[in-house]
Amino acid sequence: MEKLTALCKRRGFVFPSSEIYGGINACWDYGPMGVRLKSNIKTAWMNSMTLDRDDVEPLDAAVLMHPRVWEASGHLTEFTDPLVDCKHCKARFRADEMDIDPTDPEAPCPRCGTKGSFTEPRRFNLMFKTFMGPVEDASHVIYLRPETAQGIYLNYENVRVTSRRKLPFGIAQIGKAFRNEITPGNFIFRTREFEQMEMQFFIRPGEEGRWFDYWRDERMRWYQWMGVRNERLRFHEHAEHELAHYAQRAVDIEYEFGFGTDPWHELEGIHDRGTFDLGRHQEYSGKKLEYFDEATKERFIPRIIETSAGVDRTLLTILVDAYREEEIKGEKRVFLGLHPRIAPIKVAVFPLVKKDGMPEIARRITAELRPHFPVFYDMGGSIGRRYARQDEVGTPFCVTVDGQTNEDQTVTIRFRDTLEQERCALDRLRERLGELITAD
Ligand code: ATP
Repeated sequence: MEKLTALCKRRGFVFPSSEIYGGINACWDYGPMGVRLKSNIKTAWMNSMTLDRDDVEPLDAAVLMHPRVWEASGHLTEFTDPLVDCKHCKARFRADEMDIDPTDPEAPCPRCGTKGSFTEPRRFNLMFKTFMGPVEDASHVIYLRPETAQGIYLNYENVRVTSRRKLPFGIAQIGKAFRNEITPGNFIFRTREFEQMEMQFFIRPGEEGRWFDYWRDERMRWYQWMGVRNERLRFHEHAEHELAHYAQRAVDIEYEFGFGTDPWHELEGIHDRGTFDLGRHQEYSGKKLEYFDEATKERFIPRIIETSAGVDRTLLTILVDAYREEEIKGEKRVFLGLHPRIAPIKVAVFPLVKKDGMPEIARRITAELRPHFPVFYDMGGSIGRRYARQDEVGTPFCVTVDGQTNEDQTVTIRFRDTLEQERCALDRLRERLGELITAD
């Protein structure tokens, strides 16, 4: 993780937030490459939900919502983690994440080793609070949303009516969420401000078994489609005692990140939320959220299957999965083996040297390719260094203009993973790159 964090900083993926002020714990900023990669992930997700199928609608709801939403959702009472402090070194831990029982008088503090030094576990609500308007009193308290899902439930009826949808259908949303996490860390794995990609699929009660399995498998396929290695992905079905207050059934997609005592960690949750959400919002708002089925003349609260993924955690997964080190003729090479589908830059174009008209040709090629692929022109430094820079941002193909180009109108295409090179005629270059980028 240290190596990856350093690469992310060095290559403009992720920077520590407020760095010139010494940073702020567990907050991160996305740099030029990070923004491109994140945008590719979000676009791939939204396309897989909305463009590639015809039963899910997109939505973008506000972060700030009526405070009653969080009463209805159960977040005000249930969205808590058990917290203990070491009285000796003042370190703070999530009791449910410790390898020891903090109420055991012999349990040593993981930080300072003092035995039996923990405070009683207390429940800590993870929602960030602020005030709406100039008056800072209890009646003006408002929360930063800890998940995007609630905005979908509140708009369920708006979307259903305006898009003239019948069950089953879904609503997909990408947006920021905020949680005052007790144990943020592992780079961008758990932060206090993050982005989620959530989809709520509204179904007839009784159809949950089929739809749950369908979405669980679809979501796994999505990570594989983006190039994440299959052997590092798995499902984890929640036991009864692990279920969140709203869930009837839950399966996590986990990735083998490698950190912590258990190397597998949640990447995404697929939840059968029953009729809890619409039922509670109907009860708390007084607005009918029942569905009338024309065919059967039945009236009921739709049941919900949710898929809930994190943008930042997906990005981290993709980077961890793609990070490679190898030694070639005694020299270490670091590269990101990103799938061309999501690589921030697909093609880099270089003149071999800054003379003999090579920069001009390389610039012309860059301009010709730009409308078709994210392309990057570079003539700074030796060719080896330019390749190395592109390897570290995961650019799958580098095109080099050399001495032969003027003679026979060909360039080299260099492959990031194998380091092989092929010569390609200039008039076939765009087509050839297109084939390579879209190849499986
Ligand atoms: P964890 O305990 O692993 O942080 P969670 O079980 O609280 O996660 P959910 O509430 O199911 O997570 O949220 C759905 C998804 O949102 C997670 O699978 C993860 O990808 C993302 N997510 C949740 N909390 C965070 C966070 N603090 N930082 C980054 N991503 C998060």
